[in-house]
Amino acid sequence: MAGEAGGDTVFGKIIRKEIPCEFIHEDDKCVAFKDMAPQAPVHFLVVPKKPISHLSKAEDSDAELLGHLMIIGKKCAAKLGLSNGYRLVLNEGRDGGQSVFHIHLHVLGGRQMEWPPG
Ligand code: 5GP
Repeated sequence: MAGEAGGDTVFGKIIRKEIPCEFIHEDDKCVAFKDMAPQAPVHFLVVPKKPISHLSKAEDSDAELLGHLMIIGKKCAAKLGLSNGYRLVLNEGRDGGQSVFHIHLHVLGGRQMEWPPG
């Protein structure tokens, strides 16, 4: 379930390995793991270990970390065989549909994506 903005969330528990979760990737800055409610044949999340609650709260000094999430996203997408493409999504705040207040990049693939998104 979602945590409070700025507080700990389920992703903090996953990062700290308090909840069992198979990682697709882990390094000193982030983890990647499959979404528990996949919206595509392949749907995983790339989550920074730093608990930034919203993209809108990120600081200029987070630029390298945010770029790192994309690089890991594309490496994991290749590892999972998404050779025909995929979509990256980062939901921000209420209107953006964010439900877990620890920023994360969604990577979706394995089917034709539609536009505009819902
Ligand atoms: P948001 O709506 O915040 O952009 O996305 C949160 C995502 O986290 C949702 O797609 C949801 O299915 C996923 N999620 C929430 N809790 C868990 C969990 O405990 N484990 C995993 N693997 N995914 C989760």
